[in-house]
Amino acid sequence: MKVTILGSGTSKGIPLIGCSCPACTSTNSKDKRLRVSVFIEADTLINNRTLKILIDTSPDFRQQMLMNGFTNVDAVLFTHYHADHLMGLDDISQINYAQKKRVPLYANHETAGKIRQTFNYIFDLNTFKGGGLPQVSLNVIDINPFDIMGEKIIPLEYMHGPTKVFGYRIGNFAYMTDCSFIPESEFSKLIGLKVLVLDALRYKPHETHFSFDEAIEASKRIGAERTYFTHMTHDIVHDEASTKLPEGIELAYDQLSFKV
Ligand SMILES: [Zn+2]
Ligand SMILES: [Zn+2]
Ligand SMILES: [Zn+2]
Repeated sequence: MKVTILGSGTSKGIPLIGCSCPACTSTNSKDKRLRVSVFIEADTLINNRTLKILIDTSPDFRQQMLMNGFTNVDAVLFTHYHADHLMGLDDISQINYAQKKRVPLYANHETAGKIRQTFNYIFDLNTFKGGGLPQVSLNVIDINPFDIMGEKIIPLEYMHGPTKVFGYRIGNFAYMTDCSFIPESEFSKLIGLKVLVLDALRYKPHETHFSFDEAIEASKRIGAERTYFTHMTHDIVHDEASTKLPEGIELAYDQLSFKV
């Protein structure tokens, strides 16, 4: 399985418009962070096909697909409905064009409801006249594991301030963005991970995201062989912050890819 980080930045992206701080003016490509998303390519037993899973459709989705040379998406898993995870959904229409098939979306009940509301024109065919609509099917999932092309997807449920968010475990990889509290029940689903991608917003505490210290504590408890931090603000300058992390924890950056 190959995982590519499509974006590692917080909701407004880095650099921020109009900001002249060290991270926003950095010339290091690792300090340029699009909105968070990952792309997973997993070999399956079905006709030796590679399953291509996208987690979230960020506002930068089109640019992320172009930058990485990706053209196909077999399924989209949504974590939650916040704008930085959702607003690229309309650009699925070009994926439909490229691969000549519909894209199934998977989301929990609340997120599925918000997707229908926000993108009403996709689902209510009476409201939109003209071509170019994304061709999708919206599947409502719960906490129970499910299959896509024979690959087992294990939803993880945790808190992001007052909002319940889904993370996902696929094989020995788990993705947990937008996280401020992990319930006890979820830790047993995270045993034996090789790689974890985890929310770590900034050094200072925040109501709805892990700070670096909180993310380090959670990473140690989960015990993945390697943990990458994501969803970072402009308080984080890549090279400087990297020197402060314990063994086994690194900062994600856009276009980082790794095998699991
Ligand atoms: Zn977010
Ligand atoms: Zn800045
Ligand atoms: Zn969020």
